[in-house]
Amino acid sequence: RAKADGRNTFHFFEQGMDSRLRARRALDLDLRNAMAAGEFELYYQPVITARSSTVSGFEALMRWHHRERGMVSPAEFIPMAEEIGLIVPLGEWALLQACREAATWPAGLTIAVNLSPVQFKSRNLVPAVINALTSSGLAASRLELEITESVLLQESEVNLATLHQLRELGVHISMDDFGTGYSSLGYLRQFPFDKIKIDQSFIKELAENPQDAAIVRAVTGLGISLGMTITAEGVETQFQFDRLRLEGCTEVQGYLFSPPRPASALGPFLTGRQMTELSDARPAILAI
Ligand code: C2E
Ligand code: MG
Ligand code: MG
Ligand code: MG
Repeated sequence: RAKADGRNTFHFFEQGMDSRLRARRALDLDLRNAMAAGEFELYYQPVITARSSTVSGFEALMRWHHRERGMVSPAEFIPMAEEIGLIVPLGEWALLQACREAATWPAGLTIAVNLSPVQFKSRNLVPAVINALTSSGLAASRLELEITESVLLQESEVNLATLHQLRELGVHISMDDFGTGYSSLGYLRQFPFDKIKIDQSFIKELAENPQDAAIVRAVTGLGISLGMTITAEGVETQFQFDRLRLEGCTEVQGYLFSPPRPASALGPFLTGRQMTELSDARPAILAI
């Protein structure tokens, strides 16, 4: 009896694994077809100059509209796309799409595009960036490429050379999610980033946690003295914004100003007006 139970339990467990694996394999298959099916879209989140409260540009953030599951988070599908190598053509599509969109905006506005470490491995990154710039007609100085320190963790020699080639094109290079990795200070020595984006985990409890406030202050001071722009991610409250401005952060980004939006909903943010004049365009999340 005990044996039979054991077998049943095991069998049940195995079935659970099976269905998870099956679901994952199905999503994997869907992902391979999603590009051809036109299921990807770029959303754009405004980036705000802290001093003037005006929009300085946008970050492109990928969305996958799955025909059955609805919106799938990039936190879920980007790692899958990296695993199956799809991130290379998908990343090239995003670069081109983002540059084309940005070319329709007023000339002062920038566009930031996230890059995967896998795109560096492909060795086709520099040509893909050149292609996006030339076929969109966007000035290189308006394009920012966001990388995480994992790019400098593996194959750092080759990837550093690629970063320098990209910089020579005139594009700007940002260190994204700063503070979440291993030895962030070392990476700042390896490459002269144009911008540091302080990870949202340090902003979240800025009001309650003096440690986070100290870290934000130190990173801002460090970055500014290295001549870099400092952007705080995940700004959700007026308190956080006031504090970040006080600490000297150059730019802020977060739900307080706007969530990522489809290209068709950017109108009010392209006018050069101050964010306070755009209150009707700001989301209800202000109430948080
Ligand atoms: P990320 O580049 O650090 O982007 C910031 C994330 O924070 C975005 O999540 C954005 O929607 C979210 N966010 C913005 N403001 C707030 C806020 O006030 N509060 C909170 N809680 N979150 C906020 P999203 O769009 O889900 O993207 C997640 C990550 O997926 C990105 O992190 C990036 O690493 C990756 N990703 C997105 N699009 C692309 C892409 O085109 N290529 C690559 N390689 N990665 C991408
Ligand atoms: Mg980013
Ligand atoms: Mg980030
Ligand atoms: Mg992130």
